Amino acid sequence: MSVVTRFAPSPTGFLHLGGARTALFNWLFAKRYGGKFLLRIEDTDRVRSTDDAITQILNGLKWLGIEWDGDPILQHSRANRHREVVSFLMDSGRAYKCYCTASELEEMREKARKQGNPVRYDGTWRDKDPQDAPPGISPVVRFKALIEGETIIDDGVQGKISISNKQVDDMVLLRADGSPTYMLSVVVDDHDMGITDAIRGDDHLTNTARQTQLFKALAWETPKFSHIPLIHGSDGSKLSKRHGSVELGFYEKMGILPEAMCNYLLRLGWSHGDDELISQEQAIKWFSLDGIGKSPSRFDLDKLINMNGHYIRSSDHSKILDECYRLLCLKWGKEAVDENKDKFIYLRSELIQKSNTIIQIIESIDFIFEKKPISYDDKALKILTNEAKILLNKIANEFLECKDWSEEHIEEIVRSFVKKENIKLGNIAQPIRSALTGTNTSPGIFSIIFVLGRSEVIKRISDAVKK
Ligand code: GLU
Repeated sequence: MSVVTRFAPSPTGFLHLGGARTALFNWLFAKRYGGKFLLRIEDTDRVRSTDDAITQILNGLKWLGIEWDGDPILQHSRANRHREVVSFLMDSGRAYKCYCTASELEEMREKARKQGNPVRYDGTWRDKDPQDAPPGISPVVRFKALIEGETIIDDGVQGKISISNKQVDDMVLLRADGSPTYMLSVVVDDHDMGITDAIRGDDHLTNTARQTQLFKALAWETPKFSHIPLIHGSDGSKLSKRHGSVELGFYEKMGILPEAMCNYLLRLGWSHGDDELISQEQAIKWFSLDGIGKSPSRFDLDKLINMNGHYIRSSDHSKILDECYRLLCLKWGKEAVDENKDKFIYLRSELIQKSNTIIQIIESIDFIFEKKPISYDDKALKILTNEAKILLNKIANEFLECKDWSEEHIEEIVRSFVKKENIKLGNIAQPIRSALTGTNTSPGIFSIIFVLGRSEVIKRISDAVKK
């Protein structure tokens, strides 16, 4: 039987790192075994599901290069099919109508709490005659779960897990308004979509016991479930907003490349020996369930950024430049960018070598576009001492006399100035950097003097000296 996996996000929020990793694992598993990867949008929660979230999920997957087969399935559109399955379960005695009122259910929960028992539906209407139904109450439909024995889950990551059926209560399949619940829809859709394997977060493990019972009641084959440990933050607790952004889109905006994100997410819970840098082709060749770790892995932003640096340096530079150009135009306007394009092109190799994200590249050339007079940060101001200003005035005169405005010649001028003044290179380089960029970090000093051009350099030095 050929492999069919799926990613089944609920569009109640944006695509987060955990979801993206789940999608990636299912996609890789399908690719590895020459199968299909399907996408199902679980929009049964009509109040909390939004079109924006759906668009963002689809865009996030496309950004990562995860392509699904066929059209995405909208779970909500299959409600009639879900109800049809419930009729079948009712006819075969595996589902029943429950007329408990909200206050009766609350009482039931309260009682369980008082007795220190887990909060579960107590089966009040399981064997009651529907003719005894109180008037004016729209019933929910519940699954008649097994009471005796145990449900065995043969998990692809956790191994064999046995859950006592006593722990599984009669879950709701249809709400009082006739709408199908998530628990029912997942089972029907997994069956109808021919899902053979599903990798998902281990927060779904208890759902799997319920869903397995439902598959069995319908005499359908249960997909092979593999539950992966959730991603944790640096302090070891479940990854949440408190650890920084958990939204995939945030990292795209930060200038992380999709290849780096895929590699990082892959390594977050899956390993192949000591390999850290794993291309998508290698991942497809190597991915298997036995590489998935049993304990949670920790999200480490610095590691992601370093990995991104590797991808920036090793990917096709024209692709990186195109992306920089796009972002620069958004930041400074196309006209300003086109006017200064040659400066950026001149600095490109150095920028790519030194930066770990596209945003770092963009930010390190802010100085080219800054409106004059440029502003100085605190560190730059500290460097611009009176002593530094005297040196700046002197070197500005040397620049004025420079006949050949080339990077090599500029370097010669600065180095012989250092000798003449009997100072260290840093004594003049740092003030120049502060005067020209308003910061204390920038690409190499000779290249920035060169790209700004003589008159701009003289102007910026004189502005800084007046400060
Ligand atoms: N819709 C569920 C979620 O977003 C996933 C369900 C599943 O993978 O079975 O958590």
